[in-house]
Amino acid sequence: MPGCIFCKIASGEVGAKVVYQDDNVVAFRDLNPQAPVHVLVVPKKHIEKLSVAEDDLTVLAGIFGAVLKVAKDEKVDKDGFRVVANEGKNGGQSVNHVHFHLLGGRPMNWPPG
Ligand code: AMP
Repeated sequence: MPGCIFCKIASGEVGAKVVYQDDNVVAFRDLNPQAPVHVLVVPKKHIEKLSVAEDDLTVLAGIFGAVLKVAKDEKVDKDGFRVVANEGKNGGQSVNHVHFHLLGGRPMNWPPG
């Protein structure tokens, strides 16, 4: 999708600190980390938001496989981590390309702000 920053990262047009990728998924460090480990896991295919992803459940499954792999690689699987998807205006989504935040390396609070 022209103009989409995560599509540009997925294609390699824009640089990022990539920690994992396969045919369908790329995972890279968030520019503005909110925890010692803060990785975004995104589909290479442009999907605007989760609520329009019902035809892409295989892609979403692949994303969760990548989340688990990165959590292990980043060594946050033992103490725990959080996975967040912000959706739309009320969810606080700022980049309109599906992404899951993997956060770890510190205790998390609940409820989120
Ligand atoms: P959200 O608010 O859930 O849409 O999250 C978007 C996230 O993307 C934010 O945490 C940003 O810091 C992050 N972000 C935006 N542009 C980039 C980029 N070029 N590289 C890495 N992370 C980015």
